[in-house]
Amino acid sequence: MQIKLWGVRGSLPSPLNNQEYTGKLRRILEIAASKRITETDDLDSFMQSLPDELRYVFGGDTTCVTVKSSSGKLYIIDCGTGVRRLGNDLMEGDCAKGKGVLNIMITHNHWDHIQGLPFFRPIYVPGNVLNFYSPYKNQKEILERQMSSPFFPATFEGTASEKNYILIDNATHEPVMLEEDLKLSIHPLKHPQGCFAYKFEQNGKIFIFATDTEFTGEAIEKAGDKNFFRNADLLILDSQYTLDEAFLKVDWGHTSYTMAVNCSINWNVKKLVMTHHEPAYSDDILQENYLLAVEHAEHMADVNTEIFLGREGMVFDL
Ligand SMILES: [Zn+2]
Ligand SMILES: [Zn+2]
Repeated sequence: MQIKLWGVRGSLPSPLNNQEYTGKLRRILEIAASKRITETDDLDSFMQSLPDELRYVFGGDTTCVTVKSSSGKLYIIDCGTGVRRLGNDLMEGDCAKGKGVLNIMITHNHWDHIQGLPFFRPIYVPGNVLNFYSPYKNQKEILERQMSSPFFPATFEGTASEKNYILIDNATHEPVMLEEDLKLSIHPLKHPQGCFAYKFEQNGKIFIFATDTEFTGEAIEKAGDKNFFRNADLLILDSQYTLDEAFLKVDWGHTSYTMAVNCSINWNVKKLVMTHHEPAYSDDILQENYLLAVEHAEHMADVNTEIFLGREGMVFDL
């Protein structure tokens, strides 16, 4: 499986502002001046030498992740604003010819997880087929409601693509076989109005996407959570807050990075990717939190979990 991140911001799109941009630029120029960078040949290695918060923009688009299975089929998790760029990318291929088949998994219907859909160009091309997988019985009505007058000039049902809705039965806990060797399971999460984690298993590898969830110390030992998350090769997990902020925002439905690390280590997760970044946090703060998360993990015994800060465009191969 190949997993790619298209949107990592939580709650609301938050592009870099001018102050943050000029701040990054100034610090890059200061480093360049101190290293006396003059030759253009030096630029690639100079860029690579910069700290992550200067080398990258972590990203302002809201949740969207793709999973490419070993057969090459594409699965999209959530349609936050990150799905817009994914759509542009897909329009370079079969979707432009009306031959695209897209499987879309919805974790829940808060705006930051569906608001990119009206700007997802493949929906407007006749012949494209969109299969929506969801545990919500009224998924069709919800997507139609967000794209209706007076909120948007076009209706969802009026767009040219074919849409199918596949209800995932959460009550039976029966996994869905997406392909002969690709298994999908879901798991309920603690979040206002609910949310679901998605687990993909193929070739002995496990990828889990779990955002918009409020994990506390109880989750670590709770049998249901433990069984679902244990031994994941890659877990993209809500890490929106600092621990202090999580204490102030009990029941808001998000996890602190400290708790995300605790859970991942206890569940023997191999790679943890922090995501659903708080819109009020600048790239500097995100990087600071990331380094604190790594430090926190290093203080725990027998750590096998590698930690990453989610960033738009990041790719993981399992
Ligand atoms: Zn969210
Ligand atoms: Zn939410």
